[in-house]
Amino acid sequence: MSFHKYADIIIDISHENLDKTYQYLIPEEYSAQATIGAPVKVSFGKGNRIINGYIVGLSHEPKIDKNKIKPITEVVEDATVIESHLIYLAHWIKDAFGGTMNEALKTVIPVKKVVRAVEEKRLILNVDIDKANTLYDEYVSKSYKARVRLLEALIKEHTLDYRFAINKLSIPRTTINDMVKLEVIKLETKEVYRNPINVVKEAYKEVVLNEEQQYIADNIIKDYMDGIRSTYLIHGITGSGKTEVYMEVIAHVIAQGKQVILLIPEIALTYQTVQRFHRRFGDRVSIINSRMSGGERYDQSLRAKNKEIDLVIGPRSALFTPFSDLGLIIIDEEHETSYKSETTPKYHSVDVARMRAQLTNSSVILGSATPSLESYSRAMNGEYRLFTISKRAKEAVLPKVWIVDLREELKNKNKSIFSEKLKALIADRLAKNEQIMLFLNRRGYAGFVSCRSCGHVMKCPHCDISLTSHYNGRLVCHYCGYDENMPKICPTCGSKYIAAFGTGTQKVEELVKREFLQARVLRMDADTTRKKGSYSTILSQFAAHKADILVGTQMIVKGHDFPMVTLVGIIAADLSLHVGDFRASERTFQLLCQAAGRAGRDVLKGEVVIQTYNPDHYSIVTAAEGDYEGFFRQEMLYREMMDYPPAAHMLLVLISSKDEKKAEDGSSLLGEAVKEMFINEKIQGQLIGPATAVLSKVKDYYRRVIYIKHKDYRTLIHIKNYLEGYINYTGQLADCSLQFDFDPVNTY
Ligand code: ADP
Ligand code: ZN
Ligand code: ZN
Repeated sequence: MSFHKYADIIIDISHENLDKTYQYLIPEEYSAQATIGAPVKVSFGKGNRIINGYIVGLSHEPKIDKNKIKPITEVVEDATVIESHLIYLAHWIKDAFGGTMNEALKTVIPVKKVVRAVEEKRLILNVDIDKANTLYDEYVSKSYKARVRLLEALIKEHTLDYRFAINKLSIPRTTINDMVKLEVIKLETKEVYRNPINVVKEAYKEVVLNEEQQYIADNIIKDYMDGIRSTYLIHGITGSGKTEVYMEVIAHVIAQGKQVILLIPEIALTYQTVQRFHRRFGDRVSIINSRMSGGERYDQSLRAKNKEIDLVIGPRSALFTPFSDLGLIIIDEEHETSYKSETTPKYHSVDVARMRAQLTNSSVILGSATPSLESYSRAMNGEYRLFTISKRAKEAVLPKVWIVDLREELKNKNKSIFSEKLKALIADRLAKNEQIMLFLNRRGYAGFVSCRSCGHVMKCPHCDISLTSHYNGRLVCHYCGYDENMPKICPTCGSKYIAAFGTGTQKVEELVKREFLQARVLRMDADTTRKKGSYSTILSQFAAHKADILVGTQMIVKGHDFPMVTLVGIIAADLSLHVGDFRASERTFQLLCQAAGRAGRDVLKGEVVIQTYNPDHYSIVTAAEGDYEGFFRQEMLYREMMDYPPAAHMLLVLISSKDEKKAEDGSSLLGEAVKEMFINEKIQGQLIGPATAVLSKVKDYYRRVIYIKHKDYRTLIHIKNYLEGYINYTGQLADCSLQFDFDPVNTY
């Protein structure tokens, strides 16, 4: 292997402008140590000041005149520097998920924003009391009124807030400056962190773990004490007490002088969660999230670096908290799609957490009621250690679940969106003054086509995912581009009730109001929550029982506890089941389990009604029974048959351009390039597409997609690297931009 000759060095690591790198020559004696992330000393600027920097890139070629490139003064060998770890992590992310080094650095390094830290200035008496009293008398005799006031206060209090002295005691700034010069008083400036946590101090009530919880905590802690670092998956339904297990393990890890990161999905980043951890761990807990200002976020990362906190709670960005003694990363609700970044680099938090854990000798705990297929299959392969909690911590009974066959409703001439069963139960709850949630699990953007008589859904013959209806009357596959005419009658049963499927929350709200005149109805969806704060307003109104029925999208099913809700109605499970996405069944299973978990969380027993045209579909049947393993087995069969993740890996290439033709041509060109590469390098991969994306036009950009499937992730990285090089090289794709997404979870 030949060593690189030049290194790109970044100087001010926390500055907003991370783009600026400087090229230096790597002296031969340092060529082995000069790796990505290594801290260096370099001479900088005209005065050749020696300053610290980090290597973020390596190359064989000079970017400027060779003679103007200075050599690196020293490559520092200090493995503990936190920035080194993070830069290495950024490099790994760039390689594994695509994008530029700069995009990766911006993801990983907490950036100092121009917002200044809040300063607290205090005045302190700098002479002893006797001297102060002497001076006081002197000032009185000379009628130095301001000095007298200030000294009087300082003799009493010893120290004063600067602003208090100026605003309340009306001391002029000049007086303060004079007295500082005379060394009568001292001015002390302290940076105070903006404190993002605003919690009520409450006493911590100790919870005694039950047998299952204790077993898991004991095992993980024992491993930790024995120096074993692994990834654990805790599978337990909501309310089974996973959080208590986390807290027990966290306490032990912190006691070892280590620090902990707890990731929670943004939506669940509630006051209650933070409050609960604060109760147990006090002020050494902090939060980081996207609603905080840049300054606030920067403060929290400084506190982490200065070892002022032991535990940070936040969504995926908290993964990069600059702890120097990290010991544990926990990802709660690990199946949530919010753990996948929607912007380049499109990293998955679970993979990054495991990489960071490996770099820092930490462990990882994943927890979920409905683990992702990825995680559960890794647990089955022995890559993760699996623990299961089988029952709820508090003696709450699981709800009774009814599956209603909407085809039967049609046969019985009920064309309303409410089945007879759901109508009867809603009326019953209204009469008892209990609450109801009606849930429209709408995901994705395009409508599928199905038969209301027999439930048949139009699918792509090549990809086995639902076709999407377009306004031009054609049905399209958004993976491979296959299309066909909209059928006039159902190909299975000949019924004429075949049509695009779709209902909105607004429509459901209207129909509820029409059907149940006396009911008070609230609606929560993207429209009603656009205004800041409206989300929590709706939830608190419902919690205060100011409404009987809450109609909404999946927003309403996550993490909220409403003890008076005893009925959950899922208007049409089919809505999420047939979006054109290979994860549709998995999402449906998760959503149904979550929705069911909303009913009867307390003493009152709950009921759930799932309405569907596919009552025999395994994701509906297993969700109704709370049978995760059953669902997993069936779904894995499908993934294996079709080579979808996690049975294989899938790389999405998104090609976008302002010019529709250029997007089309560009995607064809890339498709050809991939085919050629398959032949030249004897790669046994599958190329799917190019096709128009589900979101065919976003912000004036036309979007096309290509999918590439392969068993081996490294091969897909190789293909990604090849394509990144290819677009720079051909010049034919100048008006197109490319984005990569490995094993995508979001809709394109
Ligand atoms: P999960 O994280 O799995 O949803 P939680 O840890 O939030 O579950 O537990 C659900 C509820 O049960 C919480 O109110 C929690 O305080 C309570 N709980 C959990 N474990 C115990 C226990 N061993 N004894 C008593 N209450 C418990
Ligand atoms: Zn039919
Ligand atoms: Zn297809």
